[in-house]
Amino acid sequence: MRTHIHIIFGKNHQIQGGIKNTDVRRKGFISSCTTSKGGVDGDSMDEFERAVEEIYEALEGNMDREEIRKTLRKWIVGYKLSLDEAKRGIIVNYGGSNKLLDGKFKKLNELRAGEGRLNLRVKVLSINEKVHGEGETRKKYYYGMVGDDTAVLPFTAWNLNVNIRKGDCIEIKNAYTKEWRGQIQVTIGQNTRVEILPPDSVKVRSEIRKAKVKDLHPRMGLVEVAGKILNVEKRTIVVDGNERDIYTGIFADDTGEIPFTSWDTPVEKGSTLRISGAYVSTFRGMPQLVFDSRSTIREENMEIKIKETPVPIESLEGKGGFNVLLEGVIIDVKDGSGLIYRCPECGRVISGSGCPVHGRVKPVADLRIKAILDDGTGAVMCLFNREQTEKILGKSLEEVIDMVKDNLGNPSVILDMVEDKLIARPMKVRGNVMNDEKYGLRMLIKDFEMINMDDIAKKAEKMLDEMGW
Ligand SMILES: [Zn+2]
Repeated sequence: MRTHIHIIFGKNHQIQGGIKNTDVRRKGFISSCTTSKGGVDGDSMDEFERAVEEIYEALEGNMDREEIRKTLRKWIVGYKLSLDEAKRGIIVNYGGSNKLLDGKFKKLNELRAGEGRLNLRVKVLSINEKVHGEGETRKKYYYGMVGDDTAVLPFTAWNLNVNIRKGDCIEIKNAYTKEWRGQIQVTIGQNTRVEILPPDSVKVRSEIRKAKVKDLHPRMGLVEVAGKILNVEKRTIVVDGNERDIYTGIFADDTGEIPFTSWDTPVEKGSTLRISGAYVSTFRGMPQLVFDSRSTIREENMEIKIKETPVPIESLEGKGGFNVLLEGVIIDVKDGSGLIYRCPECGRVISGSGCPVHGRVKPVADLRIKAILDDGTGAVMCLFNREQTEKILGKSLEEVIDMVKDNLGNPSVILDMVEDKLIARPMKVRGNVMNDEKYGLRMLIKDFEMINMDDIAKKAEKMLDEMGW
């Protein structure tokens, strides 16, 4: 939301000067964004489609969607009704009930992306005004944070029927949600009604939560963290026709590291900062810390000792982690490990000499391992590249190819060897763990170390000695 919310266009808004997704994407900043169908005039288009869906549901499928679209257009254009009036009119006219439209009250922590007809009771924690577009398409909108007793979320208001100020408790009817940069946002549109409630009628969960890096996860609202900028890089990107400076890098405290993005606010490498009012989003399957000019950033003298303690795999479930250390045992080696062949054009793993995309190609030999590491709390799929696989096997790619030749071209001899070397072996691994809804947790190995069994045996012996066994 903050500054990059322009993706949500207000009603009667042209795309002119809209966010240049391609520009931003090319620079590698946006992994996913939810633009509406067609991209033009997104907000009103979405509202129209949402109305179609609501009518469809209220009429219990007795009118198909295309027919509803046509009718709705006719009522709006022909009868000069607002979208909401037309929607309710059509439902009654065609024998449906408007009761379903009234929605129900939800808590902020229940919200998911793409929800409509939401009723909320929240407190306005911050509100800012901004102008979007120029000339005829100039439009004022508001953005900020709202909270209730379960969470704190950003909001955007394209239309406000009452003036709201910071600290107001409000009831919002018929709002909807959007997702942007991994954050759920409450959106107040043309058909949303806002009412001021008595002061302090909404309790807010501690507005800013102090947190350690290892505990940061999306959906936790505003956080305060203290740590060190390990490295930082400045870039300028174009958002909504305006150049914006962003600073990206790695932030760390004594529990771990996390990538960060600072909008417009410069930070320096090596400085130790207390950042209050930041939030956590998801980027490339990992948590990311985001802060901007509304966050409070203070230099503070502190010793940051980054401990090399392994994190429990369980703590990464559903969020992933940046540059984490894990310790566990390899319990399985997946098929497709060992000697493989790739398409020289696209890098896809192929069998025979055909790539599904590039047809007949000259396959390129490669080595990799896909293995499951388990630490007793959970499991991660570890991906080892060619160099790492060579190290584990103690053989070069060329030697491996020769071995396969000697084995009548059957590469299973290498898979067997990988299994021999890895299964039931304790290991320390370091790398980025990506959370993937489909594949679960996957780590791209940066570093790994076999834990010496003798050391463990000696340690155990020593411990038993000390315990008097
Ligand atoms: Zn290919």
